[in-house]
Amino acid sequence: MKITGGQVFDLEKGFVKRDLCISGALFSEKSGGGDTLDAAGCYVIPGLVDVHFHGCVGEDFSDATPEGLQRIADYELSQGVTYICPAGMTLPEEQLTAICKNVAAHRAKNSGGAEVVGAHLEGPFLCAAKKGAQNGAFLHDPDTAMLRRLQEAAQGCVRLVTLAPEQPGALEFIKAAVEMGITVSVGHTVADYDTARAAFEAGATHATHLYNGMPGLHHRTPGVIGAAFDVPGVQPELICDGVHIHGAVVRLTFALFGRERMILISDSLRATGMPDGEYPFGGQMIEVHGNRATILGHPETLAGSVTSLMGCLRQAVAFGIPLASAVRACTYNPAQSVGIAHRAGTLDVGKEASAVLLDREDLSIRAIVFKGQLVKS
Ligand SMILES: [Zn+2]
Repeated sequence: MKITGGQVFDLEKGFVKRDLCISGALFSEKSGGGDTLDAAGCYVIPGLVDVHFHGCVGEDFSDATPEGLQRIADYELSQGVTYICPAGMTLPEEQLTAICKNVAAHRAKNSGGAEVVGAHLEGPFLCAAKKGAQNGAFLHDPDTAMLRRLQEAAQGCVRLVTLAPEQPGALEFIKAAVEMGITVSVGHTVADYDTARAAFEAGATHATHLYNGMPGLHHRTPGVIGAAFDVPGVQPELICDGVHIHGAVVRLTFALFGRERMILISDSLRATGMPDGEYPFGGQMIEVHGNRATILGHPETLAGSVTSLMGCLRQAVAFGIPLASAVRACTYNPAQSVGIAHRAGTLDVGKEASAVLLDREDLSIRAIVFKGQLVKS
């Protein structure tokens, strides 16, 4: 396959006019034959990578059903999100085990849709004061033995774990998780600057939805945000649905951390791609009006988003983030954080041929290629 005539994303140069060749499932020097995809009038970007979302089209990852996970993977691929690391919540260990087993079984059967790279455990190792939409009844201190059991159930597919570093045993937990090959993220926390900095220096490299679920940036108490900035290489997630973070803060956070570090996430819920109404979420009920999802009866507590990562990419651009920076924050940077940047996240020769053609007028999807196959045109 060949993709010709488009403005093609490049990690260093932004966008360049060039053709892409695909042979089998990979980008290659020469085309392996087959169709030519006309990308005139399009940007060509890598397939997106969402490392933090809970569900869509009525399904929640935490339900741990094979059909639900398949529907999630199918929907995400249809939105140009080609690699996903869906997030579980604060739930009893038996349910977390079922979630992990479901991921391992899904990966083994290779049944289409976006690739489920692994699982993000957003809970139960969080703090009660910043649990947000998570169910406080199932919070748990950092527990390395539990993490080992879950990683075993997932057959090594736990890729990310969020924890509140002020909880007892957090530093030992971080070191053990890193040894297990799991990226550790600081989030749902009231940690001060020193505690957060110690967590990042112990090996945490990621911050869960920066600003949400943590104290704000104060000039005398910089907290997690200041510590994440100060430790090189730490990547902050930002929910860019237009509801969770003001546009000015999206702009200043990109300017502060730089495009090399930013990760956009959707944090999307099962109501994504569904009409307004009431939906279950993590053992509670939420209500959805337009692009706003809140805990039922608590209209001030945001429960997550109802916007896919592709919608968040468009929102970032609408907020004034340069397209190349926004694309990088939805592709290469999150691919790095879940350990797939060697095979995904850019359009370079040798990488998996996953790409989305976006209309240059309105960034609507014109075609999706996934691992060398045209899946939407
Ligand atoms: Zn959260």
